[in-house]
This record gives sequence, structure tokens and C-alpha cells, in this order.
Amino acid sequence: MAASLRFKVVDEAFKHAPVKVEVPSERPSEYFGKYVFNKQKMFKYLPAGVYAKMCDVIDNGAPLDRKVADAVAEGMKKWAMELGVTHYTHWFQPLTEGTAEKHDGFVEHDWKGGMVEEFEGKLLVQQEPDASSFPSGGIRSTFEARGYSAWDPTSPVFVIGDTLMIPTVFISYTGEALDYKVPLKKALYAVDKAATAVCQYFNPDVKKVVSNLGWEQEYFLVDEALYSARPDLVMTGRTLMGHDSAKNQQMDDHYFGSIPERVEAFMKDIEIQALELGIPCKTRHNEVAPNQFELAPIFEETNLAVDHNMLMMSIMKRVARKHGFRCLLHEKPFKGVNGSGKHNNWSLSTDTGILLHAPGKTPEDNLRFVTFVVETLKGVYDHNGLLKASIMSATNAHRLGANEAPPAIISSFLGRSVTELLKHVENADENALSMAGKQAFKLDLPSIPELLIDNTDRNRTSPFAFTGNRFEFRAVGSEANCASAMLTLNAAVAEALVSFKQRVDALIESGEEKTAAILKVVRDDIKYIKPIIFNGNGYGEEWKVEAAARGLDCETSAPVIFDNYLKESSVKMFESTGVLTKPELEARNEIKWETYTKKIQIESRIFGDMCLNHIIPVVTKYQSMLIDNVSKVLGIFPKDKAEAISKENLTIIEKISKHESFIIENVEKMVEARKVANHLTSEREKAVAYHDTVAPLIEEIRYHVDKLECIVDDEAWPLPKYRELLFIR
Ligand code: ADP
Ligand code: MG
Repeated sequence: MAASLRFKVVDEAFKHAPVKVEVPSERPSEYFGKYVFNKQKMFKYLPAGVYAKMCDVIDNGAPLDRKVADAVAEGMKKWAMELGVTHYTHWFQPLTEGTAEKHDGFVEHDWKGGMVEEFEGKLLVQQEPDASSFPSGGIRSTFEARGYSAWDPTSPVFVIGDTLMIPTVFISYTGEALDYKVPLKKALYAVDKAATAVCQYFNPDVKKVVSNLGWEQEYFLVDEALYSARPDLVMTGRTLMGHDSAKNQQMDDHYFGSIPERVEAFMKDIEIQALELGIPCKTRHNEVAPNQFELAPIFEETNLAVDHNMLMMSIMKRVARKHGFRCLLHEKPFKGVNGSGKHNNWSLSTDTGILLHAPGKTPEDNLRFVTFVVETLKGVYDHNGLLKASIMSATNAHRLGANEAPPAIISSFLGRSVTELLKHVENADENALSMAGKQAFKLDLPSIPELLIDNTDRNRTSPFAFTGNRFEFRAVGSEANCASAMLTLNAAVAEALVSFKQRVDALIESGEEKTAAILKVVRDDIKYIKPIIFNGNGYGEEWKVEAAARGLDCETSAPVIFDNYLKESSVKMFESTGVLTKPELEARNEIKWETYTKKIQIESRIFGDMCLNHIIPVVTKYQSMLIDNVSKVLGIFPKDKAEAISKENLTIIEKISKHESFIIENVEKMVEARKVANHLTSEREKAVAYHDTVAPLIEEIRYHVDKLECIVDDEAWPLPKYRELLFIR
């Protein structure tokens, strides 16, 4: 791109006016879920008996027979056709980071020369997409070549444009999971069973425990014209070069600042669309970095929340273009300013309330609260390396460990009140335990009203922080599917709760009173989980040293972190909870390594091209201009005077040469490193080689490109600069 073109593009970006958004005349509460086949619609469009069966399927996991499916499909079709729908699709979440869909029309032959709209139960329940082009990590070649998608009735069907979208799971014909949803649903089932059993110690009426997720989605907006002028953004979602802008986030003037008009129009637009699709959007604000924003809905049941996040990300990307923006979900689009995450607020609840909410009413309630906090932490401690693997990716690796996001070590911040409460439980008078019978039992737990203080007592550096009535898993990447983190967390907590119950039951069997038995096991676990609790500064160098001494996983290389999935303790946990089998885990890891390699490979290729085709030619031209100037000066002045006049230019000419040769030599070295890595046959070794040899070269070379950006004539610089990308509305 010639420089004049850069200025033209920047000019265009400046001129963009806010797009006018069509606001519905009804209130949000009225248009909420307009395009969702929720219970309200089912009640209206299904026969009473079928509606009752569907409620049983959704609420209690009852099996669904073909007759019911046919009746549901009929009702759905009627509702959808009233909205002008002509097509349907199974919508699923393959092991890429997006969603997949294949649309089919409702039409069928009527065998009289015409057509009819048809949609039977069997089409709703099952579909066979051509699975061979989705990643399977070798599962399909090892087992069976075909895969199919199956309806997930717990996540309601919705309409986008002219298409009925049916949330589905994606599995191989021999039953292996080929997506995120199957293991997620299994983990949610496992945690429900395990947590319900533990809840029944405290309240025998508890029948079901639900896992909740409230995600906070961070993102960047960039003007579309500027985006198109950056091949790195287009190809990789992040800028691979670009010198810091003089002003970025140091004034702290963006966070919670007033939202620019053009962005506000975009936010309004996505919120309306999200609400119509039943996503309960609530919060929107500016984030720390310039051009960075956040959107958060009210928390929902985890499976539904995951689907809603996937849907939201695709709405954001689509609607951004209508507003002349590109929505960047990459975890680190710009060096030197904050990256984007997706905090996963997680809790468990029963129909009587949230289990992680400190009630402070009765000692039993408090003991239940302590039990769930401690057992959650036990799951997190036992699998801290695995949890890190669950959020790790080539892109999120840029964010973790930098001074802005949680470090690449999983620990938990509890805040003052809960920490004190645990200390108190741990040290309570042993004699209290020997008193038999519930009446005489002195459960010396303080009431904890001041827990609410923890809402303000925040620790932004903690990857897994307790925030009053939930844990906030902050290490999740902005473009990730939350399911990866959520299935691991819920399964780990399920395992901890199962072990807890086994140990308590053993004590009860040996004659211990129930509450005393619970307290005993809780105390053991409070001692056990100490290494995972860290209330200090997670950014400090001292923490890395201490965490290593505590035995926490401190590995920083993404491909090596993935090894955690295949550790004996991980396989045991996933298999015992019924979430994933060893062959599934092995297959998934192949995909993780392969994806890692491909991402770095693409970055390295486009980066090399940009260095050689965009930067070097422009720099050489500028250098020639300086050389030309020097030789002209030499022509008109005596030699020593000419040299004195040209001193600065000569220095610049030399500097440019140094940077240029570094870039050219090392781009070549990078290409060689790729060749060596590409020859490796093991996906793991290949990913490790890309991490160790290719990725660091991108950063090393970048340093020199960014230096050149500061030297070369601004008018000649071909790529939109950070100050233009980050501040233009
Ligand atoms: P902050 O930025 O202060 O952390 P936000 O209000 O942006 O908080 O987002 C908090 C998210 O946590 C919201 O999605 C909210 O619905 C969710 N949340 C609140 N309570 C719970 C809970 N008990 N379990 C799960 N999520 C929760
Ligand atoms: Mg938060």
C-alpha cells in the first residue's frame, strides 16, 4: 500500500458517522426471546401432552421418543414459518473455535408435481453432516468414518434470518465426542449428581444442582478500512508489528469512560439482537485499553450460557461490519496495551439458592458454604495444571503472564473474610467435635455477614477469585469457547465432591456423627488446599518462585501445558466422572497441538511476507533518498564540511542498514526453522518446535521493524500505525 493510500484510509475512518439503529417500539422485556422457541412458545404451539413431556425432557433429562419429537417438530415448523423461516440447520460446536451449520430447506416433493413444507422429528433429532472436514484428532479414522449431530433439547431452538437454528451435539458413530458440548454436558451431569449427594447431608429435599456461568466478553473494535490495510489483522486477528502509540492507556481515561457514539450505536444494535435471541445482556462499558470494550449478560445455566456466548460472538462479528468496524476477539491484538479475556463467573445452585453464597443464618448453612468453597478449591488445586491447559491456546498465551492478566499459574484469591473463616474452621476446638448428637453439637462457626465486603476487596491479578457468591475464572481467553474451561472445572469439582462424600460416609459408617464427620473431612481438606490459596500480588516475580516451591504448575510453554490433559490424574478424573475417555483425550490433544502449530505457522508466514514485501522496500527507498542527499552534499561542499553536514543522515543510513540486515537474515532463519519443524512427524514435537524456534523469531524481528517505524518518513510508512488503529472512531 502506498503511503497516500494509508492517509486516505485513515481519512475515511475519521469520517465514519454512527449508523442509525432501528430500535423496536416495545420494551426489552417484551421483545426478549422473540426469536426463541422457549417454553412460552412451546406452550402455545405444542399439544398440552407434548408440552408436558418436553418440560420433563428439559428439566429432568427424561428420554425423548420419536412420536414426541414429531409433534415438537410440527409445532416448531409452524412457529418458524410464521416468522418467514424457510430453512433449518443443526448448529454445533466442532473442535475449531467457532460454530458450524449446514442449511436445508423445509421443502419436499409432494409427488404430485409440486412441493410441500415438511419438517419431521427425525430431521430435528439427528443429522449427518459431512464430518470428514472437521478436526477429530484421528478419532474417525481409528473408529468409524462418520459423525452425526444430535439435538440438545436443553438449549432452545432459535431463528436467525430465514433459518431455524437447532443446537446439537456432534459425535462419531461409535459415540466419541467430536465437539465441546458432549463432554460439557457430561461434566454438568457429573457435578449435578456429586453436588446433590453432598447437599443432601444438609437438606435431604435437594433434588438437583445446577452449574451457572456468567461470562464477561471483552473485545476491540477497529475501523474496517484500517483493518483491511493490515494483512496481519486480516490473517491472524492481531498486529504482528507496530510501534507503541505515544499515548495508549497510561492516562487511564478509557476505562468506564463515556462510550463513543459510533460504538454506542454498535452496542445498542448487538444488544437488541441478543435480547431478541434470548441472551440476557445487561452490562456494557469501555475497557482499559483504547478501543476496548466489554459486554456481559446475566448468568445462566452453564450449557445455555456457553451456547449464548458462541452466538454472541458471531453476532458481534457480523453486526460490527454493518457499523464499519471489525470486532477483534483475539486475546492480544495490540502489543503494549491490555489484551482481552472472558471472565467466567461460576457457581453452583439448587432450587433453594446459590451454594457459594454465604448465608450466615444457621451453622449448617455456613458449614455447607464452607464445604462447597473448600471442595471447589480442592478440585482446582488437584488439577491446577489441567485447568491452565483448558484455557491455553496460541493466542491466549500472549495474554497470560503479561502484566495485565492473570499469570500462567493457577491460584485462588479468597479475600479476608473467607480466609479467616477457613482458618477458624481449621482451628476450631477439637473437643467440640467429640460431643455427640446434633442438639449438643457446638458448631462454632461465626456468622459471616461481612462477606459482602469481598465484593470490593478485589484482586485483579488472581486467575480464580472468590467474589462474594461465585468464583471468577479470569484466565479464559476472549475468543475461546467457554466450554473448554467449564467442562474441566465442573468435572474437577465433581471428582472432589465424590471423594468428599466417600470419606464422610466412611466416617459415618465407623460411628461418627454426621456433622462431626463432615467437619473432620472439611478440616483435612482445608489443610490440604493451602498451596492453591494466594491473596497476594500475582504479577510479582516472588510469586513465581513461591508458586514453584508450593508445587503449582508454572510451565509457560503452551504445547507443553497441553501435556496436562494426558497426565494420569487427569485421565483418572475425566474417566471416573464419565466426561472424556483416554482415547478422546489423546485425540483432542492432537488437535490442540495441530491448531497451535497452524496458528504460529500462519503468523510466521504473513509476518515474513510483510517484512519483505511491505517494510524492506519502503525502508530501502527512504534510505536511498538519504544516500542521495549525502552524495549531493558531497558534490557542493568540501569533503570535511560535507561530512559534518551529513553526520546525522549517515548515522540514520547506518541504523537502517543494521535493522534491515537483521530483518532479512532472520526472516530467512525463520523460514528455515519452519522447514525443520514441518519435517517432524509428532504433532506434539512439531508444536514444541514452533513454540521454541519460530514464535520467538517473530518477536525478535518485530523489534527491528518497530524501530524502523520510528525512523522512516511517516508519509512513506505503508501500514496504519497504532495511534491510528487505536484512536480513530
Ligand atoms: P465485574 O466486572 O464486576 O466482575 P460484571 O457485572 O461485569 O462484574 O459481571 C459479573 C458477571 O457475573 C455477570 O454475568 C453476572 O450475572 C455474573 N454472576 C453474578 N452472580 C453470579 C453467580 N452466583 N454465579 C455465576 N455468575 C454470576
Ligand atoms: Mg468480572
